[in-house]
Amino acid sequence: MGVRGYGFTGYGFWLLLVWLIPAAAHARWFEQTQPIMGTRVYVQLWHEDAARAEALINQVMAEMERINQLMSPYLEHSQLARVNREAAQQPVAVSPELFELIATANRFSALSDGAFDITFASLGHRFNYRKGVRPSPQQAKTARELIDYRQLQLNPDRHTVGFARAGMRIDLGGIAKGHAVDRGIDLLRRAGVKHAIITAGGDSRLLGDHRGRPWILGIKHPRGESSVMKLPLENVAISTSGDYERYFEVDGVRYHHIIDPASGDSARGLISVSILAPRSLEADALSTTVFVLGAEQGLKLINGMPGISAILIDHNGQITYSNDLVDPSAP
Ligand code: ADP
Ligand code: MG
Repeated sequence: MGVRGYGFTGYGFWLLLVWLIPAAAHARWFEQTQPIMGTRVYVQLWHEDAARAEALINQVMAEMERINQLMSPYLEHSQLARVNREAAQQPVAVSPELFELIATANRFSALSDGAFDITFASLGHRFNYRKGVRPSPQQAKTARELIDYRQLQLNPDRHTVGFARAGMRIDLGGIAKGHAVDRGIDLLRRAGVKHAIITAGGDSRLLGDHRGRPWILGIKHPRGESSVMKLPLENVAISTSGDYERYFEVDGVRYHHIIDPASGDSARGLISVSILAPRSLEADALSTTVFVLGAEQGLKLINGMPGISAILIDHNGQITYSNDLVDPSAP
């Protein structure tokens, strides 16, 4: 019967073309930025239907805000704020989602020997970076002893969280944005979106490519406005932790928002850590973790994790990469 037998030369083919052309002609990028979770959330996606695209972006923003309402330590009515107020007296029941994220955070603590530890907040809450407030040496000493993820009492059957000691606090600032970005990307993927980026502060995740080309993302210069490098990326998450986002200086010493539980001081080995991972949750938690661990231990951890990459910048501006970025045959 030959090619004609398939009917491509018949009018069915033209009908198909007529149907496709207007759709393709209207497809374009849609984007929005909103202040959520104490940072700027940016969503960009490719879609053929303007109303649907705007609705999807709004759904992503709403999902981020829902997570903020659940997990912000600053909102009195959030479940996390309630944990901080009551968990030393009795176990506090939380939603399965919040419980799971706390349990996941504790797995990163175990993995890093406590470098990542959400109970850092026992000390961390005494800093106010915008106002340049830090704890007195006595306050710092007392609070430092309360940092220990093993003192969190997690009951997986009842989804309750308890504190073994009074004065303990938790804060999911090192992992919650990654979780929120993942939720946003899942939402878009389920809705059939093929190309999108969601960025929340230093945490980004890419869905697909930039339509035939990779997305190009820059790693910010830790001491300037430019970027130190541009990376062609697709279908991956990237998070950067830096000592330049929230900090103040006293007598030339920089007090910033990433706390080393071992010293009770801002972590001082590195000034920027970027992690590439399949999901934003891992990228977010590991960027904070490696920032605390420092170059040597941090790279050792990442080099042992297949599918995860790291780019570190130290005080001299020296850039170091995990093995897989230097030697493509490495895992
Ligand atoms: P950003 O919030 O700037 O994207 P990061 O992902 O680098 O930052 O995480 C920094 C946040 O992590 C801090 O603002 C704080 O909420 C939290 N944090 C600080 N030190 C630790 C730590 N040792 N373990 C877990 N979380 C931490
Ligand atoms: Mg992080």
